[in-house]
Amino acid sequence: MNLAHWLARSAAIFGDRPALAHGDTVVCNYREFADRAARGAHWLRGRGLAPGDRVGLFRGNAPDYLVWLWTVWWAGLVAVPINAKLHGREAAYILGHSGARLCLVDAERGRTLGAHLPAGCGLVGAEALPEVSGLPPADIAERAEDDDAWLFYTSGTTGRPKGVQLTVRNLRWCTMAYLAEVQPVSPGDAMLHPAPLSHGGGLYHLPYVLNGGLNVVPASGGFDGAEIAALAARWRNASFFAAPTMVHRLVEWASARAAGGAGARPIEGLATICYGGGPMYLADIERALAVIGPHFAQIYGQGESPMTITVLPKHVVLDRAQPRHRERLASVGYAQPMVEVSVRDADGRALPAGEPGEVCVRGEVVMKGYWKDPAATAKAIRDGWLHTGDVGALDADGFLTLLDRSKDLIISGGTNIYPREVEEALLTHPAVAEVSVIGAPDADWGEVVVAWVVLRAPAAEAELDAHCLEHIARFKRPKRWRFTEALPKNNYGKVLKTELRERERALVAGQGEKT
Ligand code: ATP
Repeated sequence: MNLAHWLARSAAIFGDRPALAHGDTVVCNYREFADRAARGAHWLRGRGLAPGDRVGLFRGNAPDYLVWLWTVWWAGLVAVPINAKLHGREAAYILGHSGARLCLVDAERGRTLGAHLPAGCGLVGAEALPEVSGLPPADIAERAEDDDAWLFYTSGTTGRPKGVQLTVRNLRWCTMAYLAEVQPVSPGDAMLHPAPLSHGGGLYHLPYVLNGGLNVVPASGGFDGAEIAALAARWRNASFFAAPTMVHRLVEWASARAAGGAGARPIEGLATICYGGGPMYLADIERALAVIGPHFAQIYGQGESPMTITVLPKHVVLDRAQPRHRERLASVGYAQPMVEVSVRDADGRALPAGEPGEVCVRGEVVMKGYWKDPAATAKAIRDGWLHTGDVGALDADGFLTLLDRSKDLIISGGTNIYPREVEEALLTHPAVAEVSVIGAPDADWGEVVVAWVVLRAPAAEAELDAHCLEHIARFKRPKRWRFTEALPKNNYGKVLKTELRERERALVAGQGEKT
């Protein structure tokens, strides 16, 4: 049941095929990949680690990330991926809370962690694993289906980060959902990793390991439109997971390239861009389809139910003949076959089609629970259903439309306002590059709507207000406007509304920075 059997299987079937690449250079084939994992596992065992022990992975994006991960799995250990941008103190909290016995770091993260390393947790730098070549390969440690494999800490926007326990079973079914609903993978197909491997997007490497595909980490370690296009052309049949910000950046890059004299042309070698991880507005996906071409599939998932809760596969995205095409394009698709999705009211009753409520999910990809936090687990999983904290509505055909995160919902004068709807309206104004709408406390209304806007061309408040009047109900219009150079985002490109709310509070209190 150990996932590492997938790597051993690929080494046997696709041994000579390239497995990992850094930019345009192959780093190892499947035989070498499995060999390094097997010898590395021997070395880890030699340090007294036993199956089920946790090991932190705290390093930037690089092919070695995946070598280390599979080494950890081969030895039957549980990987604790840590966001490479965290402060040493934050990483230390995760290591301490997970009870990690060891943390594998690159040089930069080794320095970051430094004195913060918790007692009982060893630190191993990049230089240690290569020395395993002289060691004998270890056998794959046995794991059970419900044993933890990936202990992923939430970003902690609401309190301390929580450790999401994803099991061998969860990861296997995430992989199957990708193969069944997003696309099949053949040897030679490539998955690019411009997104952090430590986050949910990192799990997209799994179907490629299973079926002998190539996992490619861009040399820049991040997202760059020109680099992505060059890598797609180099490796062919290339796909990648993209948060909406990455899609925007690719569209901007392709538009600039077209305007720069090269004319509009397709990105060669591109297979599928799996977008998700945050809201993609209808106007944006339509523009992306027009500029980039027919390469998009959407996924909706979260740390607690990763990769896919629902999928909007390419055939739906591209089916313009379908009378409800635009409505479907604005949705996050339908439940993938390994889960059930239900929209429920506050008392846990399933709501009829069209009625908004909390999106709940149960099935093979839902986490086992939060590590050492039974109270939080009991709050999140009730009657067998994971409560996602997202508000959405199902239509009669099973397509789910997300309205917002329940924690972002604005209640003004007793009426619910979904920020996403206001954002969507504002984004159709040509001067608006980015927008995030939040609720701010107000003595009269309870909360008022505040729009934080990044402009790409000058526009006055009155003009934006008039634009809102044309698109949404009068009471949903922002009462306050904040113009800013950039919105605060996490390293996945997701807008940090908590930080915007803090800025707003500070501004109102008269102590805030200038926007
Ligand atoms: P954290 O829980 O770590 O504080 P978070 O709420 O951003 O952070 P993630 O697991 O990173 O949690 O992101 C999952 C959330 O992202 C989902 O619950 C949903 O709100 C949003 N999301 C994911 N995919 C989509 C999508 N395709 N469309 C709209 N929103 C999405």
